[in-house]
Amino acid sequence: MCGLFGVFNHKEASKMIYLGLYSLQHRGQESAGIVTYDGKQAFSERGMGLVSDVFNEEKLNALKGATGIGHTRYSTTGSSVLKNAQPFIIEHAGGFLAVAHNGNLTNTRALRNKLEAEGSIFQTTMDSEIVVHLIVKSKKKNIEDKIADALSQVEGAYSFLFLTENELIAARDPRGFKPLGLAKCHGGYALASETSAFDITQAEYIREVEPGEIVVINKNGIRSLNPFPEIRHAFCIFEYIYFAKPDSNIYGENVYLARKALGRQLARELPAKADMVLPIPDSGNYAALGYAEESKIPFEIGIIRNHYVGRTFIQPLQKMRDFSVKLKLNPTRQLIRNKDIIVVEDSIVRGTTSRSRMRTLREAGARKIHMRVSCPPIKYPCYFGIDFPTRNELVAASNEPNEIAKIIGADSLGYISLEGMLKSMPIKGSEFCTSCFTGKYPVKPPEGTTKSVLEKKQ
Ligand code: 5GP
Ligand code: MG
Repeated sequence: MCGLFGVFNHKEASKMIYLGLYSLQHRGQESAGIVTYDGKQAFSERGMGLVSDVFNEEKLNALKGATGIGHTRYSTTGSSVLKNAQPFIIEHAGGFLAVAHNGNLTNTRALRNKLEAEGSIFQTTMDSEIVVHLIVKSKKKNIEDKIADALSQVEGAYSFLFLTENELIAARDPRGFKPLGLAKCHGGYALASETSAFDITQAEYIREVEPGEIVVINKNGIRSLNPFPEIRHAFCIFEYIYFAKPDSNIYGENVYLARKALGRQLARELPAKADMVLPIPDSGNYAALGYAEESKIPFEIGIIRNHYVGRTFIQPLQKMRDFSVKLKLNPTRQLIRNKDIIVVEDSIVRGTTSRSRMRTLREAGARKIHMRVSCPPIKYPCYFGIDFPTRNELVAASNEPNEIAKIIGADSLGYISLEGMLKSMPIKGSEFCTSCFTGKYPVKPPEGTTKSVLEKKQ
């Protein structure tokens, strides 16, 4: 996960990046950072927490220069501490370099051991830092060739933004796991993980950075390198299912429409008799709309989300069951009581939140609950940047749907089929990585890894 936004040649670069990151907040809430360059020196501000916690007007004004990159972080490798906040900056013999990364590299253990044996000293536990070492050590002449040289040694998922003294450079791995788009921005350029970040900055979308492409932007304009051999694409399908924002386009297509199509397909594959279709907000809303439309069963909002729940609130003294869940989502009792309902959810990972939602609906008087899920059972961990835990934490790894229905407390449970999901996507099914459902990884998972080895909880 993680959100990226970069700007080249804008007189309010830091403010553009701030706005861009604001609209990419859903891609990571652990830390946020911006690095800018004014032609002479670099400026940086990074902090733990949300974009709105880390930055204020004064801090943005101090980030001088017309070019910069920003990052919102959701840690999947490296622990959640300030020194791991990005963008990551170094000064090296060739000058200054800042980097922001979305994705997970899979051959870092071996690369890091080799670099350390050769004398490299690491400041962080992030896999992104390894790429920086490889760039600096490269014998190539110019920065884009150094970057290509470094990236030819790493495996896995990456969308990168690099900031140097003269260039803004973007790179996307040859399989294109993570999205990255390019736009014109008030006479300069912008790059972002999702197009909603272009909307807010009034940048004009041009195109995707292609899988395997390195885009170099400097005062002479924009250039593109394709240093890697063509390889089958492996776009993360979970971006469409859950992760990206519905108002965004990723991989060139709209997320909202993709989710609605999943819901329609789900209704065709797994009909049920019910009085209404309810989403689990907010992530289930779009597939639920599609399901209702296709099944002609009324769509109702039966669970209401409280939008004012901050991250810190006062817990009652007496321990109240599911207190924080109840504070965030409350059922509309009169609507649900004695009704048969279809509940649509985008995904089940561990099953714990689904169980508590089912209990909420039962307590509100629901009679029959048919749960429908707009992605297939998630059975395998992700090594490429989605925070899916070890196999034994994934409820579908060791339970069939009918058993999961019992575990979570639904009368029936149905998942969309793999073929149905792929057919519903706005781009060709063969372009996607579906390894969390199939266990067929497009890149070899890290040697002997389980997620816990990746020191997530360090
Ligand atoms: P579960 O029932 O597995 O505990 O939770 C499923 C819910 O988690 C769904 O509403 C889904 O939208 C959400 N979800 C799916 N993937 C992720 C993820 O990677 N991170 C987080 N925080 N939530 C997720
Ligand atoms: Mg959800």
